[in-house]
Amino acid sequence: MRPETISEAQAARQLQRTTVLTAIFSVAFVSWAMALNGYGGPYEQGHVAIFVAITVIACIFCLTHLPAAAFLVMGIVMSVFLFCCVASGNPVFLAIAVNTTFVTAVMVRVLSNNYRAFVQLVASQAEASRLSDENARLAHTDGLTGLPNRRYFFQRLDELIQDSTANNTRFALAIFDLDRFKPINDTYGHNVGDRVLAETGRRLAAFASADVSVTRLGGDEFGVLVRSPGPPDEIVAFCDGICSALQKPVLIGDIRVVTGCSGGLAKFPRAGREANELFDRADYALYHSKEHRRGVSTLFSQEHEDAIRAERAVEAALSTADLVAEMEMHYQPILDTATGEIALVEGLARWTSPTLGRVPPNRFIAAAERCGMIHTMTLLLLRKAPADCARLPPAMGLSFNLSAHDLASPETMVAILAAVRTCGLNPRRLTMELTETALMRDFDQAKASINALHALGVKIALDDFGTGYSSLGYVHRLPLDKIKIDRSFMTDIDTDRGCSLVSTILDLCQNLGLDGIAEGVETVDQFEAAHRHGCRYIQGYIVGKPMPIADLLQTYCSASPTKQWPLMLAMAG
Ligand code: C2E
Ligand code: CA
Ligand code: CA
Repeated sequence: MRPETISEAQAARQLQRTTVLTAIFSVAFVSWAMALNGYGGPYEQGHVAIFVAITVIACIFCLTHLPAAAFLVMGIVMSVFLFCCVASGNPVFLAIAVNTTFVTAVMVRVLSNNYRAFVQLVASQAEASRLSDENARLAHTDGLTGLPNRRYFFQRLDELIQDSTANNTRFALAIFDLDRFKPINDTYGHNVGDRVLAETGRRLAAFASADVSVTRLGGDEFGVLVRSPGPPDEIVAFCDGICSALQKPVLIGDIRVVTGCSGGLAKFPRAGREANELFDRADYALYHSKEHRRGVSTLFSQEHEDAIRAERAVEAALSTADLVAEMEMHYQPILDTATGEIALVEGLARWTSPTLGRVPPNRFIAAAERCGMIHTMTLLLLRKAPADCARLPPAMGLSFNLSAHDLASPETMVAILAAVRTCGLNPRRLTMELTETALMRDFDQAKASINALHALGVKIALDDFGTGYSSLGYVHRLPLDKIKIDRSFMTDIDTDRGCSLVSTILDLCQNLGLDGIAEGVETVDQFEAAHRHGCRYIQGYIVGKPMPIADLLQTYCSASPTKQWPLMLAMAG
């Protein structure tokens, strides 16, 4: 019998049956042997004696793991055999009886020892398998939240893919990520951060069911797998429900912590048939939520598929591009309203690909960041821009954009610092524009990079201010010089709310001794409003669009400049 094919109860029944059969066979065997003893001469009787003794020993040996049966054989057969030997009165048979008794006694001892060792072996195997189950459970559990972990998530995902492929069913994969979690960790410490995560885990666990597996993927990221998810509206509503549950305030002692939560969602098989593909697409949808619709979840759609294809095309073109030849810098003037002069220009990268034509900087910068080329690109631009700007009047500065990736990489920063030192432009004329994203990614690394730049005399501007999160928390902890108010604020500066936002930011700049620069100023009304609120520096189409250096020199720096700022300032009052 193969042990793996029978249950424990069946095995126990089989063993019992063996014991009963042993008793019956023993009686039959010894009766037969004793009956044979009545025939033949001493040789034949001697043979019967050997036959009985050897058979009993062999049976005991074979029944080592079933001692009850072994002892039955021994008890039944040996008692009758010994009785007959003694009863015969023959000294040879007596000697055989004594001999066999000694041998069987030793056999009993050996059998007991072996059986004890066997029982111990079985027990230790059971313990080992319990421990390995426990290990497997721990290996699949996240210590902080008690939820299943990333490993479990991907194992379950593989199972679902197999199941759904075999049965032609659907399932959904969702990823949730807390917004503003990092600043909470930075501000209140890891202890509070951990408790926020634990509470998030508890809330998420409430959504688990036979069809819904919830897991912590790591950090502030959670994964959910939903079997038979229903129509798109339903599953998106379900995920939105998770987002709202996770962004309810968390109370930790006196601290009331509010995090946001965004989700991304991909459905099998529409968004992909492989684990990585599905995960990447849910992640893409999550990124989309974070960029455009925080606080809710986004379902990966055909539109996203097209966007990914377009991004891949940019990445492909970029990887074969001759960047030195294809890239150039345009410069946008920034006006100092106090002097009526152009105080500095912002360098903005332009790329004309032979295959794709003009690609907007937002797209190629993001693509370069994704495929690890931003380092090369930043350094290339950091050679071009100062070379161009050497032609500007000495009072005019250059503002240069750094990517979040540049700031986070110590090697890139070393190269950037070296480029600044050798670029030929006085570092004091240079401003580096950084976004909050760059600071949030790794605050300590960003701070070290900023300090190193500052030490060279380079000024630091916080770009797109107001579009990120936790801005204020960072502003006073870094040696910043300027804040660039994002252009989204300019569009509604004529509303009460927009107006008070801009004036609040400008007050903040004044209190911290920073220069405020209004970006994206397009109309005279916006110009006036910004100026009225005390904004000294103005950048936007009303001052000038980004243009090649030659045009900039021609328009703003020639003997007879074509723009007349005093006129504009007079208009602004
Ligand atoms: P940004 O740093 O916020 O740059 C300002 C963007 O606003 C520029 O877009 C500029 O053309 C545009 N702009 C300026 N004035 C106005 C206005 O009055 N109205 C409107 N609607 N837009 C205005 P651009 O050149 O397309 O650059 C987009 C983004 O690409 C930049 O945003 C920056 O984040 C990134 N970028 C551009 N060049 C570089 C670069 O050399 N390095 C890095 N790392 N990023 C760059
Ligand atoms: Ca900028
Ligand atoms: Ca900006």
